[in-house]
Amino acid sequence: MIPRSEMKTKNEPYVVGQGYRRFPVTSQAFVTVSMKDTGKLGYMFWLDKMHRNMGRKMMEGTEGYLQEDNALDMGANASNLLVGAYGFPNFQMLKWSTMVVPEVLSSHKVVRPPEDLTRLVKRAAGIYGADLVGVAALDERWVYSKDMVKPIVITEDGIPEETDDEFRIPRSMDRAIVMAVAMDAKGIGTSPAIESSTATSIGYSRMGITAVSLAEYIRAMGYRAIPCMNDTAMSIPLAVDAGLGELGRLGILITPEFGPSVRLFKVLTDMPLVPDKPVDFGVEIFCKNCLLCAEHCPSDSISFDLPKETSSLETSNPYVRKWYINGEKCLRFWQENGGSCATCIAVCPFTWGFESIQCFECTKCETRRGCELQVNTHLRAKHGYLHIESYGERPEVLRPRREGL
Ligand code: SF4
Ligand code: SF4
Repeated sequence: MIPRSEMKTKNEPYVVGQGYRRFPVTSQAFVTVSMKDTGKLGYMFWLDKMHRNMGRKMMEGTEGYLQEDNALDMGANASNLLVGAYGFPNFQMLKWSTMVVPEVLSSHKVVRPPEDLTRLVKRAAGIYGADLVGVAALDERWVYSKDMVKPIVITEDGIPEETDDEFRIPRSMDRAIVMAVAMDAKGIGTSPAIESSTATSIGYSRMGITAVSLAEYIRAMGYRAIPCMNDTAMSIPLAVDAGLGELGRLGILITPEFGPSVRLFKVLTDMPLVPDKPVDFGVEIFCKNCLLCAEHCPSDSISFDLPKETSSLETSNPYVRKWYINGEKCLRFWQENGGSCATCIAVCPFTWGFESIQCFECTKCETRRGCELQVNTHLRAKHGYLHIESYGERPEVLRPRREGL
């Protein structure tokens, strides 16, 4: 990772209004659109329409949507579906209790200073496949209020468990280890063709395996762990708190190393870890001028305005100051496209690093102290995330150097 000591830090990365309430999974776009399409409560029913258009484009021989393109995506997604299917609490391999660790390990705590435990956990996360890792003190506002049916309740004591009526997370699980895996930027760059879905699917498969491995490691160290993919708590604000990046206009996290071309996941734990600090590398100022994602979004789901204090959109989490995205319109485009979309990630300059053409596209540039994207591009090149052949041309995005998986 680029050392966060080379960036400014923020104490309060979010402005949260009085009306804020924990968000239910049932208000997410995937569930909302599934319900509107079929009348059924679930996460995947919206896929029916997408698959119909996938089949149509395949039969018509549409370039980028052929059967072999979709087959490559299906293989990339297999581990994701087997491990946790994008993430449901206590589901499949995302178990909230020990799976393979013998009691001789799980019943005995490794007691070390928090700084040592933090170093060990971050190293383990890297070995298991994380490209970025940070620690956040768990802010309960970011824990979903309920999953599809059962509420997620924060309890004063006890163990993490699922009962007949609820999911129970003890307040002692007060740390989130937040991780990112980088997606293949070249694949993402083909969006909305199926090759970009494949880059996303590989990201999901890798994040599931890494979350489960890290949870078992923590249990073998004698502590409790809840492995999560998209489930249980909102990954983006946790990642902001853990110093992995900043929220951008496109509604997702922008990291200094890979821009928005990452997938996020986390493990909640009671291991006493040292939290990281949120970073400020100029994303909000840059996004105010840039607008590229909003201009290129095929469904007009991204705002051209300044960040808003709240939103009345059905699928958004209101009373947090940010750029709100129209999740339903976005997903309707995925259905029409016959595959997922990542065009906002593909056009974001933080995915690629500075190119001089962007100076013409940032038509309202108000930069006073140097362009944030240029500063970030220098840092990425310095720390081995980009290769710059000729300054001002599109740099080459280097593949992450992974220790393990
Ligand atoms: S994924 Fe595609 S449709 Fe959705 S917001 Fe991004 S660019 Fe728009
Ligand atoms: S494309 Fe531009 S406006 Fe959109 S998130 Fe990236 S930097 Fe921000």
